[in-house]
Amino acid sequence: MKKILVIGSLNLDMVVNVDHTPATGETILSNNMEMIPGGKGANQACAAGYLGADITMLGSVGNDMYADILLGSLQKAGADTSKILKRSDATTGIALITVNSDGDNCIVVISGANATLSCNDIDNNIDLLKEADIIIFQLEIPIETVCYGAKKAKTLGKTVILDPAPVPKEFPEELYRYVDIIKPNETELRMLTGIDQIESRLPEASRQLRNQGVKNILVTLGEKGVYLDSEEDGICRIPAIPVDAIDTTAAGDSFTAALAVMLSEGKCLREAAIFANYVSAIVVTRKGAQSSIPTLDEVQQYIRQIEAEKAS
Ligand code: ADP
Repeated sequence: MKKILVIGSLNLDMVVNVDHTPATGETILSNNMEMIPGGKGANQACAAGYLGADITMLGSVGNDMYADILLGSLQKAGADTSKILKRSDATTGIALITVNSDGDNCIVVISGANATLSCNDIDNNIDLLKEADIIIFQLEIPIETVCYGAKKAKTLGKTVILDPAPVPKEFPEELYRYVDIIKPNETELRMLTGIDQIESRLPEASRQLRNQGVKNILVTLGEKGVYLDSEEDGICRIPAIPVDAIDTTAAGDSFTAALAVMLSEGKCLREAAIFANYVSAIVVTRKGAQSSIPTLDEVQQYIRQIEAEKAS
């Protein structure tokens, strides 16, 4: 099996349920807080682990109890965490989230150690990049590090996947040249291309990215499924699996990971996207981020069940 490397963020989400969102200067009470492992990089590494991949993560955490929770969650999924850097001078990345009784949230993200992952860290771990076949980046670590890492990965002949979230104010155009597969959602595609009413202009938007050097574009469209524009597999739409979605957290992250896992097993991009579409459909029917990710067995059983329903 080919090796996957995720280079990215780890965050602990501290979720507090409140009656109403506090106003400036107001103190309110809550009687519960959940600590939920997250961060786009860690979610993707976890998902790849549960789906049976040979997966290593490179990222950065603080030397604190939050890091232990995050590393524990990755290890439970079977991901190799031995190269995750522990900083003594930074806190682990944390997202402070209040959710009010209407379900609306307010979020403060403390990037902490994620912001310290540097080009030097890439150089110091170059063997990890050399050993990997597929390398996945997202944008919750410094953009210079992503550019540098993706360039190195490309030079080494690796397959580079970019989940371009969150889109920075200034997206460095050179990054497109190092990316084999980019996987924006609709909002991200709009921000990257400047094209509005994106749903009816997907061919134009994806062509724009193709012209900038990306060979394959996969746009996730939530309940509308996926749009694929690929050098090898052409253009196609994959409809979403009809499900009762209750929580879309980590839908995109699990999609990216599932895609990489299938590519690591030699599937073409179209087949990989079809599989990822099933994985994300399961994820949106469960609450949470890493806790909502299915195992490979669960996905295979789910696919058999849907195929059987279609046939009957
Ligand atoms: P993100 O989480 O990055 O915003 P999307 O919302 O586009 O990503 O969702 C990613 C994928 O998850 C979709 O392409 C689809 O496969 C699946 N998905 C998301 N929402 C639903 C839904 N309501 N029903 C079925 N599948 C969904």
